[in-house]
Amino acid sequence: MTDYFEVHARDGAARIGELRLSDSVTTPALVDDVLEDAGSLWAAEREMPEGSDDVLTVLPHRSLPAGSADEVRESFAVDYPAVDFPSVATVTADTAADYGSDAYILSDAQGFVGHARAFRDEIIEAKENLPADAALMLSGVATPRNVSLLVYAGVDLFDEKRARARGLEGFYLTNDDEYFLEDLDELPCACAACQKPASEFTRADAADHNANALRAELARVRRRIRDGRLRDYIEGQARHDQWLTAAFRRFDQQYSYMEERIPVIRNTELTAASEESIDRVEIQRFADRVTARYTNRFDNPLVLLPCSAKKPYSESQSHRQYQDAVQYRAHMVSMTSPIGVVPQELELTYPAQHYDSVVTGDWSEDEKSFVAEVLRRYLSRNEYSRIIAHVPPGAYTEIVERVESDLGLDVEYTVSEHPTTTESIGNLMRTLDGEPKYTREEREHNVVKAIADYQLGPGAGDALFEDVELEMTSRYPKLQVWNDEGVQLATMVPQYGVISFTLAGAKVWRDSDAPTKTVEIDGFVPHGSVLAPGVVDADAEIRPGDEVIVDGPRAFAIGRAEMSGTEMVDSTRGVAVEIRHVEET
Ligand SMILES: [Zn+2]
Repeated sequence: MTDYFEVHARDGAARIGELRLSDSVTTPALVDDVLEDAGSLWAAEREMPEGSDDVLTVLPHRSLPAGSADEVRESFAVDYPAVDFPSVATVTADTAADYGSDAYILSDAQGFVGHARAFRDEIIEAKENLPADAALMLSGVATPRNVSLLVYAGVDLFDEKRARARGLEGFYLTNDDEYFLEDLDELPCACAACQKPASEFTRADAADHNANALRAELARVRRRIRDGRLRDYIEGQARHDQWLTAAFRRFDQQYSYMEERIPVIRNTELTAASEESIDRVEIQRFADRVTARYTNRFDNPLVLLPCSAKKPYSESQSHRQYQDAVQYRAHMVSMTSPIGVVPQELELTYPAQHYDSVVTGDWSEDEKSFVAEVLRRYLSRNEYSRIIAHVPPGAYTEIVERVESDLGLDVEYTVSEHPTTTESIGNLMRTLDGEPKYTREEREHNVVKAIADYQLGPGAGDALFEDVELEMTSRYPKLQVWNDEGVQLATMVPQYGVISFTLAGAKVWRDSDAPTKTVEIDGFVPHGSVLAPGVVDADAEIRPGDEVIVDGPRAFAIGRAEMSGTEMVDSTRGVAVEIRHVEET
């Protein structure tokens, strides 16, 4: 239970929070000015401090060095009383528990920051043991270079201690490096402390500069979290230190920790610019869902196509040429790095139209293996009468050939030199001679069903939308789904390529065999949003951004999850669900 910390926005494990002191502090942030330490119990018996709304009071504690034996930790564990002022309890990952504090300091941080695996393990263990809505603090470890990764991992509060200490030791820190003061002919910064010639710059100035640089970096990180683009930044920034690169790879290996926290949709671009982009949750999740949830419903041959830089693909010049050649006689699936494969029905679905990758035409072996693996899984699950590969020579063709031989398929190739040459387009057109056309109606039904499968789970499309009418309301398919009695059930939202339900649609969903995501609430009628304390229970499968049914003794509603299901149940503050439609029951 926390009264003095509230999470307002999330980007994976990173969060924008608010320390609700008399002057509120937006986190992640440095808290030197608002932290009051009631002292160590090693030195003396301590009176319980009086506390104040102006500061975060660190309750009397006994810190143990990193690596202390479990028996030692247990016998010296402090029992934290409940207090009614903003408080911080000092714990380690394995003594972490809900003591009712607003924030928790991991006392052995200096032992694991700098070691990728230990850092990941300690942070994940601590986060699992602590309440979801409490702030996590690391003291004496933050530098301008490492703080973005610390935030990415889920840490909220820091202090200037290490940055200042390094300055006094003669080190000048930037967000990408650290220098001996003596080696600087010129100060690579324009902060207030750096407004003097390098020759007059003292260690005390370096301490001030280091703290300024840390503060500036935290401001940048907060901006990135608000934009939902911290990961894009980390992939580049972490390059500047080996352990940071190793650490975020370690977090990628811990897929479930990040997956639970990464939203299913975003309205911002995803930059896939490094070899680690393939391991991002958004990319892996798309590949998983396309190969485990999606089912092809077309009876036509498959045409494999290269992706286009312009998204959605169908609006690119090259894909218009392919469409003109195909003329509704084939199911078009695009191959792309790093997303894998994108069936035409899912070209709007996040992140298929939101990613931007560096197009050099050269794919690394990792990229080729990834796309080949996704294609292999896709073709093992979906059968076609014919498979036509309209892809350029090089990586694309190599991947198709690899999968063709692995699965014992027979693929027809239609490209000579380049997919958009007159000859290649002519080949594609002729090879489909005699194949039946599908109708626009069939295509649109397949779009809403494919999105339902992708979003809700295998079979959802058929369970929900077997007998529906569709209406297209704008040029790019903003499809509305109606039942045969003229009641609207859902809309396909083109910005994210997801289904959003009406109340009537939510009831069809609730009563169907499709997997549902439900938030149970107390006896009230929510207007606008459901706050976490009103949540009685929530499916653990709920991710931020998910469409959710909200059900309670007095209300039935449909809305969008603002946090994961686990966090809704765990939290005492914050918006759990934004409500779209509600009715009293
Ligand atoms: Zn400076």
